[in-house]
Amino acid sequence: MRVTDWTTERRPTRQIHVGDVAVGGDAPVTVQSMTITKTADVEGTLQQIYGLAAAGCDIVRCTCNETEAAEGLAQIVPRSPVPIIADIHHQYKMALAAMEAGVHGLRLNPGNIRRPEHIKAVATEARDRGIPIRIGVNAGSLDPSLYEKYGGATPEAMVESAEREIAYFSEVDFDLIKISVKASSVPLMVEAYRQLAEVTDHPLHLGVTEAGPPPAGLLKATAGIATLLMEGIGDTIRYSLTADPVEEARAGRQLLEALGLRERKNIDLIACPSCGRAEIDVIDVAKRAMEAFGDREIPLQVAVMGCVVNGPGEAREADLGIAAGNQRGHLFVRGRNIAVVPESEMVESLVEWAEFIHEHGIDAAIERADTAKAEREAAKDRSALLAAQGDDANQAGERIVEIRRTVGG
Ligand code: SF4
Repeated sequence: MRVTDWTTERRPTRQIHVGDVAVGGDAPVTVQSMTITKTADVEGTLQQIYGLAAAGCDIVRCTCNETEAAEGLAQIVPRSPVPIIADIHHQYKMALAAMEAGVHGLRLNPGNIRRPEHIKAVATEARDRGIPIRIGVNAGSLDPSLYEKYGGATPEAMVESAEREIAYFSEVDFDLIKISVKASSVPLMVEAYRQLAEVTDHPLHLGVTEAGPPPAGLLKATAGIATLLMEGIGDTIRYSLTADPVEEARAGRQLLEALGLRERKNIDLIACPSCGRAEIDVIDVAKRAMEAFGDREIPLQVAVMGCVVNGPGEAREADLGIAAGNQRGHLFVRGRNIAVVPESEMVESLVEWAEFIHEHGIDAAIERADTAKAEREAAKDRSALLAAQGDDANQAGERIVEIRRTVGG
């Protein structure tokens, strides 16, 4: 719910609209993803689009690689909850067909649609229909002449590829443009985007291409996208993961929320790393809580803490949390104990209280609770744990003695 106010100022860009979604200018950074179904499979593709939209995706791209795909788009677009972009490679006629199908945007790869008359034919049609185009430069499929000129896929070569395409577009007076210069190398894509941001004010679509499966793919994509966003560069993002596209959408959304660039939409689940005091399997409870909340639109920060000794205090900033102690779960709201439940009901109660807070607010939750009783019970379990584990459940004192002996002797 809280949006940080210290993030870098965003680079000023022109604004375009993909359907009813604004990209660039003062619009919030948007999340994109791509379906992995055959676009001709209308029902399967729509099912995936709905899943993506529920996970926080603002714009979805579908491949348009054959006539059947374009025909599928004609049925998908009117039923889609979010704007649809057609992904075009090699065949400029597929771009024309996709526009005929009613798509809200196109992505063209300048590396594999190279004939100026084809590029201009698409841009002219897009201009007349008011459809934006993303110039999707990719280090792996760069125009061979640029590859030769620069001796490889360098940031300069990628930027020149985008500039050439912009020049063709401006010959036919078309400027509803956004641009991407993706690479699978994080340093390469970061540098390419930085250079591009210097020479154009068109909105930029960020991504690390072929990032691979999670978790390494998530890290790579986050490293590249977050670095640029924190420099104020980027208007729309896509995680390219070898995974269910819903994971891409979730990751994109969560990154923007973490950076304070989008209002929180779903639960922000925080959990302690666990330690010698933990009374529960924190990883398991946090995982079960994540699953229980799923994509429900409850924009609260919820904490899962391993012990009641330190949990409520360590997570006092969280809207709601639960800490384990003596086979019981101690629920707390902004650090105040509100209820105690059997350990087996921890996750269930967490969801129930989150729903209550979402509907009625923090104050109502505290009012509804018997806080005096909850605090008494928490104090009882805290003392029991301290008595059983002592003050130093992590044996830090013993380690310190050992360190001093090692160093001293
Ligand atoms: S002291 Fe308690 S809350 Fe903190 S890390 Fe250890 S188990 Fe988790």
